[in-house]
Amino acid sequence: MSNTRPSFDYMSPILVNHVGYTPGASKICIIAAPREDEFSVYRLQDTSFFLVFKGKLTKGGDEAQSAWVGDFSSLRDDGIYRIECGDSNSRCFVICQNVYGNPFRTVFNYFPMQRCGDSHTGWNAPCHVKEGVILDSGEYRDLSGGYHQSCDTRKWTWGLGLGMIGLFQAGLSEKPHWDTGLIADEIRWGCDYFHRMQRDDGGIMDTSSLPEGWSEGLYAGRKGFADYDLPWKAREFYKSDTMPPAQWNNARFQAMAHRYFKDKNPEYAGKCLDSSIKSWCHMTSPERSYKPFVAEQMPPLGHGGMNVPFAAFYKGSALELSHRLCAGISLYRATCDVKYLDDASACATGLVGLQFEGDVAGNPATACFKEGKDSLILANSYFYYWNTSGPVGLCDMLELAPTHPDAPKWMESVRRIAEQYAMVSERNPFRRVPAVWYHEDHNPFSIPAFFSFSTSVGTSDDEYPAGKVTFGDEAKDRNIRYKYYNFC
Ligand SMILES: [Zn+2]
Repeated sequence: MSNTRPSFDYMSPILVNHVGYTPGASKICIIAAPREDEFSVYRLQDTSFFLVFKGKLTKGGDEAQSAWVGDFSSLRDDGIYRIECGDSNSRCFVICQNVYGNPFRTVFNYFPMQRCGDSHTGWNAPCHVKEGVILDSGEYRDLSGGYHQSCDTRKWTWGLGLGMIGLFQAGLSEKPHWDTGLIADEIRWGCDYFHRMQRDDGGIMDTSSLPEGWSEGLYAGRKGFADYDLPWKAREFYKSDTMPPAQWNNARFQAMAHRYFKDKNPEYAGKCLDSSIKSWCHMTSPERSYKPFVAEQMPPLGHGGMNVPFAAFYKGSALELSHRLCAGISLYRATCDVKYLDDASACATGLVGLQFEGDVAGNPATACFKEGKDSLILANSYFYYWNTSGPVGLCDMLELAPTHPDAPKWMESVRRIAEQYAMVSERNPFRRVPAVWYHEDHNPFSIPAFFSFSTSVGTSDDEYPAGKVTFGDEAKDRNIRYKYYNFC
């Protein structure tokens, strides 16, 4: 990991989207130091390039990297193209409807490659086939399967669940020609593991991986890392509840799996729906303890700070509401039972009540959300959990219940988030939106928190002022900053 952005020095001086562009998408090229202010787009026909577009470069913003931008969005015909500016050329790129087909297949392949357990597709499989001793009781149950979350032994329930939401959504929306049952196999592989990890009362059990089991030799010779080059051993499992986001997300993705399998395999679809509803009932039970979650064990290298976001799930908190919102939406889509839609509506209304007030155009920080009513922390600090729940859940509600009496409030909240994103994206030439927003007293990159082993800790690279907000009755304003990248 490095906190140094790739330098323009060793890349083509004209940057384009290497994946390509869909015909209707906005299309820009980025040039750090153009020799002239005009650029030309050529299209390859037979074996020659023909000029099809000429445009003027404009300043693309100074954040992340100062550069100029050329807009050629009006080009919509399928083909192979190249851009010229002065005596420089870009690499060739395509405009076509299916540009995301190739990266989708590549990303999809990550799942079978990372399988853990009795598999023939995992890069290290078969492995960890016998694990399942529950430490608190000594009981054995088969808890093999799932995925190696990274290229190590971790298979944290929160991390796997986030990947599976993306995989299942792709399964529901994409029908690639290469899919001869591979996507169904993968969705089932992921669900099976969580079915094993679920107790009869609906709670998903907790697990950790100690030692972490880094790839052999990865840290050889690196100061302070010798202890981490240990051989892999079995993971630890605990009967107790795993962290709240994993519980909510099981309700969310099992309901998605139900929809995926409904016609293909009704029996398995029923099993997934049963798992989803069990998670829902467990998390909405009046007996649920809202005591802050603290992991039984944390892998080394500074993961201890991961307890900070887990503890941000409590009654009425933004993360609790946003995860319940997305689980309710998913269950409503699977069952058409309005009790889930009503619950999701209440969550959406509670959530928008945690958004700051103010003029986004003059102060973009005001489109952020508080962690909780009386909290002094931004929900937007918790990048993994906030970015995968709150904003998408509110958008889904506008589709599912556009005539709900509170829909105008949800619409206003989404409008302000969108305005914030659009505004900041114009400040950098890549048109990125920030991954994380925070203030100095709760900076996820310095509270030895989420990634204290990251090289970004304590640095201010890629960190920009976003405006000010006031928490409750606090006399002072808080300066809010944002960062485009989580890790570096
Ligand atoms: Zn394994």
